[in-house]
Amino acid sequence: MTRIDVTHQAILNTLLDGVAYVSKDLRVIFWNSAAERITGFMAAEMIASATGLSELEDAAGKPLSKGGRRPLVKTLEDGRPRKVIGYFRHKHGYRISISARVSALRDAQDAILGGVVCFWDSAQARDSEERLTHLQRENLLDPLTGVGNRRFADQVLELELRNLQRHGAGLGLLFADIDLFKRVNDVYGHLAGDKVLSMVAQALSKSLRSYDAVVRWGGEEFLVILPRVKSAQKLEKVGERLRLLVESAEVEDEGRPIQVTVTIGGCTALPGDTVERLLERADRLMYQGKTQGRNQVVVSGDRA
Ligand code: GH3
Ligand code: MG
Ligand code: MG
Repeated sequence: MTRIDVTHQAILNTLLDGVAYVSKDLRVIFWNSAAERITGFMAAEMIASATGLSELEDAAGKPLSKGGRRPLVKTLEDGRPRKVIGYFRHKHGYRISISARVSALRDAQDAILGGVVCFWDSAQARDSEERLTHLQRENLLDPLTGVGNRRFADQVLELELRNLQRHGAGLGLLFADIDLFKRVNDVYGHLAGDKVLSMVAQALSKSLRSYDAVVRWGGEEFLVILPRVKSAQKLEKVGERLRLLVESAEVEDEGRPIQVTVTIGGCTALPGDTVERLLERADRLMYQGKTQGRNQVVVSGDRA
């Protein structure tokens, strides 16, 4: 038989669904990478938590079981699997809809040892609305384009870098700068330029995964933050797709179609990276693309 040279933990960490293992007193013993991504809470803080795994809430913010025995507790008693649908409060304060399945883990004698909770973000329209108002309230959105702003980027990058240092989860960053944008303003006017900025923000946001983030970093510069992207090849593929999406997008101003291109620099995060260092590398690679003729993607997986 072929030896499989991976730990069970590594397998659980590659799943896209959150997986938690809790003891009979509801203390978290294992919390996989997807659980961290979905909830914003790191494994270390969940495991250290004295209160254990908190219960899902209903739409009104009350515990689902209304003070009765929660489904997880019932499963720990009778060993029967259950489905639970409710809300969980993300570390950043907003609520996410969660679908979960709970089941019991038993020992060889069939005694119940603990509970396994498998869950995913059942992202529904009201979820993203709630997330949006939260981000607006916290001043994390760029008012012109509706994507994240610099403050948002700082928060997300800090969180993802911590994730990377602790679990090697991977993080890719793309730095996109609109080509010859000054000319758009000069030819079509500043208002048309603003429309183009929104169009580029939309084009960049269109094809991403729910946990990727688009940010307006400054004037005509955007960041795309891609958690769990580890390889330069993967990053380059995403960058190239986004470059093509921008290139084929079009906005009309007084009957005239306007199109622009972007130059994108991209790199993956390295252990020990700071937000500044990561951004500086991506910016440098973007600039390299400018000097090589613009409308291109320059990606490096190392310290280039
Ligand atoms: P390059 O290909 O080298 O990036 O050329 P560029 O013209 O894009 O570069 P440059 O940095 O010289 O110009 C950026 C322009 O972006 C200048 C500024 O007027 C414009 N800009 C920055 N913020 C805004 C904005 O909010 N709205 C509009 N309409 N223009 C903006
Ligand atoms: Mg620029
Ligand atoms: Mg530019």
